[in-house]
Amino acid sequence: MMSPNIYLDIDGVLLSNGKSAIGLDSFIAYLDDKHQGNVYWLTTHCKGSNDSVISYLKQFVGNEQTLKAMGHIKPTKWNVAKTEGIDLDQPFIWFDDNLLYGEKMILEQNNALENMILVNLKDKPNSLENFVQDFPIPV
Ligand SMILES: [Mg+2]
Repeated sequence: MMSPNIYLDIDGVLLSNGKSAIGLDSFIAYLDDKHQGNVYWLTTHCKGSNDSVISYLKQFVGNEQTLKAMGHIKPTKWNVAKTEGIDLDQPFIWFDDNLLYGEKMILEQNNALENMILVNLKDKPNSLENFVQDFPIPV
């Protein structure tokens, strides 16, 4: 199967209360190994460039390998809805801890709501480890 595009939020997904989430290093290593070239930032910390994302993450991520792999992740551009940054014509998985009503509508219209993985690190702190064990597959 072709690698899906993978879209990553940061706060509440990779970071939890200003700390690296459990399993962050292995999650990023997995993405870099299996999906490099198809991974995108989808976060308020990225508006078209990777530099601002990396300088933000450097405050929280100490592992040099992880930061290097994060440097391979591509930027997106969006203004109001994160769905603007998603190529809805391609298979994708979107990890986020929040889904706005308008974004949900767009996903539903594209029969892609199940491709959005709602992450809740408060209730499931080991989520990133679980994704590496059993990576979501696009519908
Ligand atoms: Mg978030």
